[in-house]
Amino acid sequence: MKRILAEYIWIDGTKPSPLLRSKAKVIHGPIDTLKEIPLWGFDGSSTNQASTGSSDCVLQPVFFCPDPIRGGDNILVMNEVLNADGSIHSTNTRAELRSIAQKFEHEEAWFGIEQEYTLFNSIKPLGFPDHGFPEPQGKYYCGVGAGRSYGRDIVERHATACLNAGLGLSGINAEVMPGQWEYQIGPLSPLDVADQLWISRWLLERIAEDNQVRVSFDPKPIKGDWNGAGAHTNFSTRAIREPGGMKYIEAACKKLQTYHAQHIPLYGHGNEDRLTGHHETCSIREFRYGISDRGASVRIPLAAAQAGCGYLEDRRPAANCDPYQVCGAILQTVCGNW
Ligand code: ADP
Ligand code: MN
Ligand code: MN
Ligand code: MN
Repeated sequence: MKRILAEYIWIDGTKPSPLLRSKAKVIHGPIDTLKEIPLWGFDGSSTNQASTGSSDCVLQPVFFCPDPIRGGDNILVMNEVLNADGSIHSTNTRAELRSIAQKFEHEEAWFGIEQEYTLFNSIKPLGFPDHGFPEPQGKYYCGVGAGRSYGRDIVERHATACLNAGLGLSGINAEVMPGQWEYQIGPLSPLDVADQLWISRWLLERIAEDNQVRVSFDPKPIKGDWNGAGAHTNFSTRAIREPGGMKYIEAACKKLQTYHAQHIPLYGHGNEDRLTGHHETCSIREFRYGISDRGASVRIPLAAAQAGCGYLEDRRPAANCDPYQVCGAILQTVCGNW
C-alpha cells in the first residue's frame, strides 16, 4: 500500500457567503471507491461552525476525484459537514439537495452551470489601471490580445486542472468586463453538478493563489456600467429533452415565475446589485421568460425553441450562489410543488 495525500474540502460558516476550506490527510491509496476514504474532523470554532467549548465538526466524504495539482494517486475529496453526534450541521446545504434529488430521481434531471468570476490584483480587476478605468466594455467578451484579455494563464491552468480531475467542464470564455471570465460545468445530475462546481471553485482559488491573484464571485464587483457576474443555471428533465418537450419547458417557466420570490433569497448574496434590468439581466423585482431573450429571468435557448425540446436557462443565480440550494430550488419547483 502506498501513501497518498487526500485534500478534504468543505464549505464553512462565513456569512453572508461561505468560503471554501481544505486540509490534507495522508491515507493509504490508491483509492477506488468513496467508502475507502475515512471520516475526518476539524475545528469548527475557527470556521464559524461551532463554539470553542464544543468545537469538533465531522467531515463526511461525498465525492472524490484525482488531484490535478499534486498529481499521481493523490485525490480531492468533497465533504458534507456533520455535528459531532453525526447529525446534519446547519451549514450543510447538500443534505437537503440529497433528499430532493432522490425524490425526483425518476425525472432524470440535468443541470449545466455557467460560473462567472472576476480576477483581482489587490483591489482592482485585472486589466483595470491603477487610476481611473479601462476603456468601456465592448472588446473584452471572448477577446484575444493584449489590451483585451487579462488573466488567461490562470484560466488555462484552471481548465486543464478541471479536465485532469475528470470534472464535467464543458467550456471557458472571457466575459464582458476586463478580468471577468466564465467556465461551465455540466450537464450532470443535480448532486454531481453541485459537487463538481464546488471542487472547480476550489481549484480556481488554489491556482489563482499561486499568482496571488484574488478570485471574486461578487455578483457586482464594480459598480456602474460594468457587467455583473452570474451563475446561469441550465436545466432539463427527460421530458424536456425529448420530442414535444417545449410544453414542459413552458410549464416549468410558469412554475418558476410563481415561486420567484422564494428563489431569490437562495440565489446568492448581493444579487440585487446585479439584477437591475441592465447588462443582460432582468430586474430582481420582475420575472419574465422568453425565447433567446438575454434580458429575461429565464431564457429558452433558440436551439431549444427550434428543436421543440432541450433545456431552459435560469439567468437569475449570482456568481456567489450555492449550487446545492439553486439546484434544489429549481428541482423542487419544476418537478414538485415547491
Ligand atoms: P450561453 O453562454 O449561451 O448561455 P453556455 O454555452 O455558456 O451558454 O452554457 C450552456 C450550458 O448548458 C452548457 O455548458 C451545458 O452545461 C448546459 N446544457 C446543455 N444542454 C443541457 C441540457 N439538456 N440540460 C441541462 N443543461 C444543459
Ligand atoms: Mn455562457
Ligand atoms: Mn456569461
Ligand atoms: Mn448563459
